[in-house]
Amino acid sequence: MSADALPPLSAAELAALAHAERPGRCATCAPLVCPGWESVHSAFDTSVLHRVGTLRREDVDEPTVMEHHPRGTHGWSIDAPIAPAFFPYNRCDVWTCKACARPFLRYTEYGGYYEDDRIRQVNAALIDDAQP
Ligand SMILES: [Zn+2]
Repeated sequence: MSADALPPLSAAELAALAHAERPGRCATCAPLVCPGWESVHSAFDTSVLHRVGTLRREDVDEPTVMEHHPRGTHGWSIDAPIAPAFFPYNRCDVWTCKACARPFLRYTEYGGYYEDDRIRQVNAALIDDAQP
């Protein structure tokens, strides 16, 4: 599927996905569950996830590199806001577990000499629809 075909999801739609997950522990996605950003370990089987949409906006030429941390969090904080209009959420695609529908965000961080596939579980309570 081309990236362009992914439906863009709003903050409200992302929250709805988070509320639709089946509660409780899920053996299928348990190894991927992480409250803050983590690198996807090469041993993780990401085929248990299904890509359902994106937070990227085709109508934004230069997605901001600013992060949104009004309460003193930082990029790796487990309680950092999930703000779709800000970095790195504005580069994320949205994935759900095929077994329990738990949503995750994923993007690729490009460093000078590396690419890092990162993942974070979506906690509806942290979604923040602030705009840059
Ligand atoms: Zn699951």
